[in-house]
Amino acid sequence: MVQTHVLGYPRIGADRELKKAQEAYWRGEISQQRLLEVGESIRRENWQAQASEGLNLVTVGDFAWYDQVLNHSLMFGVVAERFAEGAASNKLDQYFRLARGRAPSGQPVAASAMTKWFDTNYHYLVPELHEKQTFTLDSNWLLEEIREAQSLGYKAKPVVLGPLTYLWLGRGVDDVLDLLANLLLCYAELFSQFESLGVEWVQIDEPILGLDLPEQWRSAFHTVYAQLNQMADLQLLLSTYFSPLRENLQLAFSLPVGGVHIDCVRAPEELAEAAQLLGEDQVLSAGVLNGRNVWRADLQKWQSQLKPLADRLGERLWLSASCSLLHSPVDLDTETLLPAEQKQKLAFSRQKLAELAQLQKLLAEPVPSTATPEENPIAGNSVTERLQDSWRAQRYQERAVLQEKCWQLPLLPTTTIGSFPQTDLLRKVRRQHRSGEISELDYTQHLRAEIAEAIRRQEILGLDVLVHGEAERNDMVEYFGEQLQGFVHTGNGWVQSYGSRCVKPPIIFGDISRPQAMTVEWSSYAQSLTQRPVKGMLTGPVTILNWSFPREDIHRSESCLQIAEALRQEVLDLENAGIGIIQIDEPALREGVPLRESEHADYFAWAVGCFRFTCSEVKAETQIHTHMCYSNFNAIMEAIVSLDADVITIESARSDLRLLSAFADRNGGYPNEIGPGIYDIHSPNVPEREELVERLKKIAEVVPIQRLWVNPDCGLKTRSWAEVGSSLLNMVEAARTVRSEL
Ligand code: GLN
Ligand code: ZN
Repeated sequence: MVQTHVLGYPRIGADRELKKAQEAYWRGEISQQRLLEVGESIRRENWQAQASEGLNLVTVGDFAWYDQVLNHSLMFGVVAERFAEGAASNKLDQYFRLARGRAPSGQPVAASAMTKWFDTNYHYLVPELHEKQTFTLDSNWLLEEIREAQSLGYKAKPVVLGPLTYLWLGRGVDDVLDLLANLLLCYAELFSQFESLGVEWVQIDEPILGLDLPEQWRSAFHTVYAQLNQMADLQLLLSTYFSPLRENLQLAFSLPVGGVHIDCVRAPEELAEAAQLLGEDQVLSAGVLNGRNVWRADLQKWQSQLKPLADRLGERLWLSASCSLLHSPVDLDTETLLPAEQKQKLAFSRQKLAELAQLQKLLAEPVPSTATPEENPIAGNSVTERLQDSWRAQRYQERAVLQEKCWQLPLLPTTTIGSFPQTDLLRKVRRQHRSGEISELDYTQHLRAEIAEAIRRQEILGLDVLVHGEAERNDMVEYFGEQLQGFVHTGNGWVQSYGSRCVKPPIIFGDISRPQAMTVEWSSYAQSLTQRPVKGMLTGPVTILNWSFPREDIHRSESCLQIAEALRQEVLDLENAGIGIIQIDEPALREGVPLRESEHADYFAWAVGCFRFTCSEVKAETQIHTHMCYSNFNAIMEAIVSLDADVITIESARSDLRLLSAFADRNGGYPNEIGPGIYDIHSPNVPEREELVERLKKIAEVVPIQRLWVNPDCGLKTRSWAEVGSSLLNMVEAARTVRSEL
């Protein structure tokens, strides 16, 4: 009989118990002891869920108080100097200081850097390494968890990050492979500890095998795994996910490990070859359920596909989800809002466990003779073809002339990114509106008052291009998802994004269409209150797609184009209503970029094409803005240019304007207008006027002043009005100062 296991299970709890307990602990409302108990009970429930579906192993080590990569940093003693204080007396607080800069005890410090986990929306804490880095093992927490599982009667399979992936993720050392030998000492010690606990299988995650690896790293795999294999009498399951292995497929299977896990959702085509490459004693773990989506799997299809392999390999075939279920919501049974016919089609983590059990059973039975038809791989090419003519009628150079005449903006025009502070009152009113406690009319009136106030403040501040402030939006994707047909919203489909923060992506359930205008009412009301231009504010098609659970029956690009068509209509409605400057945010463009370089061109062709399509029919005078909040544009500069937005605003304040070089270097620089954020909105500090003047002048050295805008680096919804007022005032004055000196 084939075996079943998962690479990891969500740790937030079915009702986000972990989030609630963490935040209560940070606020000083519950004791550390209480927090520890919540964690223990979540682990227990997770193992219980796995065991009750008959999974052959339960996974241990996937729990984290904040992040699994941080767990490893602490386990290996990778703790920068500034976190050293107070560790002996309170380890968990040290952990939280590393994660978020503060904890109930100890002095606040600058937190570790955080960045996205491969191509997911999960964020890990970057290991902060230094040239003289040495590693020391402190694995007590993990051993404790293994004992916990064992004492409950489970067969525990600990999961650890592999040494190569761990080093790959680290920053601060040029030749990080030099640290390998020392790091391997920790693994040796750890493995012998596992052995003495009677562990048989260890899952060792090396997702970097799905990347375009430099040769040096590829060959390191051979030496490292030869050594790991010698360390203890353990079976290693080398696990990979998120990407096809391609040139690393052979490499993975040639390593002296007990088995290999591959992602059959991202690379179904590699299953057959993997089965060929499999050694006589090796186990093949097939990640057939999608660990990153919410749909029920086609178990019949997998039954017929896997049956010959199951017959050949028996216990050496393991079934699993493609990756850790960390990226799936927890339990569909807690979903009270969705109608039964929708629920039927869905499977969250808990349901995926049951699917594994079902598939295991199906594979023990003869396959019914009704053969399932061959699948046609779904590709995105046809969307790209349809988007050939998505360019605007005039080129930027011609548009710019007309726009200058039309808008009469000063040099260095000032603007903001869209949102203004979301006050407690505003949140409360939105909640009351949702629950029907206040009437539609009262709600509209309240929002109009918010908008009027935002316009009044912006006029006093003297900004040049105003915004309505996004008071009506809880979230930049959910707001549109709720108004478009084709989306389904869960009540409890939370997925961890980082630490205690979870997101609840909407589900693209069917074809998308726009029954009516979504933003025109608010934007045109705002415009009616002022002589200055008000910028319309939309979330772009790629961001809406990337921050939702996509369909699996059509290519992502098809849904993207459907969303783009809905937005195209919205853009035209805005234009008709007299909104002649429209911003289409695409902060998630980069996160959909495939992990393999060879697939980038394809992605950008349809993603960028869809963006352009949204504004392909506006008048030349209509000025299209876009916004992205990240740095490091180098790799995607071509794509950014071909968005062909008239103005792009980007984040640059935190990276100390270094990223601007990406815009400046490129043969002659970024061709259109650009607003590099001149102050960091993530910090409560109010930037001084002088500091902003300096920064602007520095920027003006790389960006021609005729094409330069002045703005903060992202939306202001998380800030208070007091901070926003002073910051924007200084920003506007800084722009005036620089203008006057020209
Ligand atoms: N317009 C949005 C805002 O200002 C943009 C948010 C974002 O880039 N994440 O809030
Ligand atoms: Zn932003």
